[in-house]
Amino acid sequence: MNRIILILFVSIFSFFGCSQAIQEEDNEWAIALHGGAGGDPGNMSQDMKDLYERHLLEALEIGQRMLENGSSAVDVAQSVVVYMEDCPLFNAGKGAVKTIEGNHELDAAIMDGSNLKAGAIAGVKDVKNPIKAARLVMDSTQHVFLIAEGASAFASSMNLDIVNNGYFSTKAREEQLERIVNNAENEDPRGTVGCVVRDRDGKLASATSTGGMSGKKWGRVGDVPVIGAGTYANGLAAVSGTGHGEYWIRRVVAYDICAIMEYRGVPLQQASEEVIFGKIDPMGGSGGGIIAVDKDCNISLVFNTGLMHRAWAKSNGEYGVGVLKGEEKVFNINN
Ligand code: ASP
Repeated sequence: MNRIILILFVSIFSFFGCSQAIQEEDNEWAIALHGGAGGDPGNMSQDMKDLYERHLLEALEIGQRMLENGSSAVDVAQSVVVYMEDCPLFNAGKGAVKTIEGNHELDAAIMDGSNLKAGAIAGVKDVKNPIKAARLVMDSTQHVFLIAEGASAFASSMNLDIVNNGYFSTKAREEQLERIVNNAENEDPRGTVGCVVRDRDGKLASATSTGGMSGKKWGRVGDVPVIGAGTYANGLAAVSGTGHGEYWIRRVVAYDICAIMEYRGVPLQQASEEVIFGKIDPMGGSGGGIIAVDKDCNISLVFNTGLMHRAWAKSNGEYGVGVLKGEEKVFNINN
């Protein structure tokens, strides 16, 4: 009898010891964001790099603060993307690229890895913050994907800000379209934004928003709102991509990374490299990259281009920012 009581005592004790360890581990968080992987690295001035880094760090700080305060992964991913949609430097929201007709058509998606819920919109011309509309599709409808006028009508019925198409225009994007139309130079028209998050509860989320490819035609939709292609999250990892969307769709990039991890049990970094360098690279003309975070707070930033605007942070105080390949500034708030 005494032995049984002892075993019971030891079991209860080790159960509480273990759950405490899990709780401590669960208090950790990790976040990564990108502002696209397009552009000629050789053409980027120091001033331009500094400007991008400043805005990437501002976006990151929003996420860091929210995570410290216990916000959920989806809320954090959405807020970071809203900041980047409002910043004219990036190809999402204000500053989005133009279609060949000279308009803006925006795509966005968000996914909650804790329950596999997702929301996406595509081809909207007047929703100020497409990621907010995608979030509402996820939270307030029975659908996953709304497009064009239907998506706009939904956004306006949910009282989101509706703007004229001209709101999204910037001088830089007009000049970019002109160069493409005149074929004056080899333009690299990318610059999507995205954010992946692992929150204090161990939940994962991914959010991505874009104006698509500059000079795109006839209602073209890229990978960003296609769940599994440019945006995906489950209980293992969250991934957000940027690149030539047609290739990302055909390779189902974001889901493939998560599937490789799940089916083969390989770590996030290895799965990401296998997809970007092993599957996307050989397709040719398919430059881009991904940001990803896994349930253990590992972060991957993998791209096959000369640059990817990126920033990341972890609850242990480490954070980093970078634009060009091989050039990343790493800091620790504890030093
Ligand atoms: N992936 C986006 C698209 O094809 C473009 C980008 O990442 O910049 O629409």
